[in-house]
Amino acid sequence: MSERTLDELAALCREVGRTAEPLLEGLDETSAAKKALAILAEARLARWTVPHAYGGAALDGLLAGGGLANDRDVSVRALCTARAELAYRSGMLDVMFVMQGLGSYPVARAGSEALKRELLPRVASGEAIAAFALTEEDAGSDLGGVATRAEKRGSSWRLDGAKTFISNAGIASFYTVLARTAGAPGERDGGKGSLTMFCVPADARGLSTQRFEVIGPHPIGSVLFDGVEVDDGQRLGEVGGGLDVALGTLARFRTSVAAAANGFARRALDESLARLKARKQFGKPLAANQGLRFDVAEMDARLRAAELLVTEAANAVDRGERAVKEVARAKLVATETASWICDRAVQHFGGLGVKKGSVVERLFRDTRALRIYEGTSEIQKLILARELVD
Ligand SMILES: Cc1cc2nc3c(=O)[nH]c(=O)nc-3n(C[C@H](O)[C@H](O)[C@H](O)COP(=O)(O)OP(=O)(O)OC[C@H]3O[C@@H](n4cnc5c(N)ncnc54)[C@H](O)[C@@H]3O)c2cc1C
Repeated sequence: MSERTLDELAALCREVGRTAEPLLEGLDETSAAKKALAILAEARLARWTVPHAYGGAALDGLLAGGGLANDRDVSVRALCTARAELAYRSGMLDVMFVMQGLGSYPVARAGSEALKRELLPRVASGEAIAAFALTEEDAGSDLGGVATRAEKRGSSWRLDGAKTFISNAGIASFYTVLARTAGAPGERDGGKGSLTMFCVPADARGLSTQRFEVIGPHPIGSVLFDGVEVDDGQRLGEVGGGLDVALGTLARFRTSVAAAANGFARRALDESLARLKARKQFGKPLAANQGLRFDVAEMDARLRAAELLVTEAANAVDRGERAVKEVARAKLVATETASWICDRAVQHFGGLGVKKGSVVERLFRDTRALRIYEGTSEIQKLILARELVD
């Protein structure tokens, strides 16, 4: 099937998610991650995370609907459409989908033509698994603290250091890595001009990983570089241009975090509505209580507002606009709203809401990390305030 419109893409994702949800239950994290990617690949959905020019999905419908700036980019509207539907069913399906894009976008944006042609079609087919490695123990919100070093040795680079909180650590085929090529961590330049990105194959000698668990289903861990050598052809963009590549990647994908949040939140609202109508206490359905009716009304209104912010931001980014305010607002409002909605849903389920294995318990855990990764809520406020005030 070749989806030509966002509605067709949404319908396909809905169907894939519905079938995948029971298949992913009860699997250990690595098996679930690999199964999720296999399901996405079979449905040919990973194509939407890669530009059309390098094996990505056809864009006819999107171009007709107002335009993606060019076919060498990834459509944020498509990412958001897919993530909202996939997240509705499974956090794992959602994360495996988006990581293909987030991890490979630095290659699409700044890699050599040869690297793009070799790698990106394999990402689009799900054959290669991508990961994006910025964060370090002393470099989280502030990437100026990046200490992983890359030193030029003839025609290659030698990388030493450690990344942490890297999604797909241990299962990725390659990592797009932000490393220091000049200066010292914490200098006042914030990393501008002193960081460079590289594409590092997972089987490079000297690269190792250590997995750990977070509260939601999410393959994650640390990636260690001990004298890892990569050819200069694996460099992504100019020497010293790494921060721009990294931040440009986040700017492209951040709105889709908000869309995933909306997917989780919509599921929570649906679960709440079903429970409140079915469950009787004091001789009447819970839904007969005005306090709880007001709750679902507010959940619905806040969610719709978040969805409209995502639509606004995704349209603006796809049109090639700067859209800094739109993206920050969408990420901030949608992720905070989703946490609140999932919390209300847990409350509506009473004891069942915190029982391991219940849908709302999983949603509560699924949504929490969204307020932290790809720029925390506080960082979104900083960005928005800078745009408004300065
Ligand atoms: C599930 C998950 C997946 C992730 N995947 C990846 C990945 O694939 N690749 C990757 O590189 N990273 C990844 N990360 C890391 C993530 O991007 C960082 O956790 C995030 O950027 C925050 O950095 P930090 O954890 O070091 O927190 P810190 O930067 O130490 O922040 C701690 C707190 O202080 C606040 N804060 C910081 N600075 C300010 C300020 N100036 N003003 C006000 N408040 C401030 C923050 O908002 C936060 O609340 C992931 C994280 C999680 C949880």
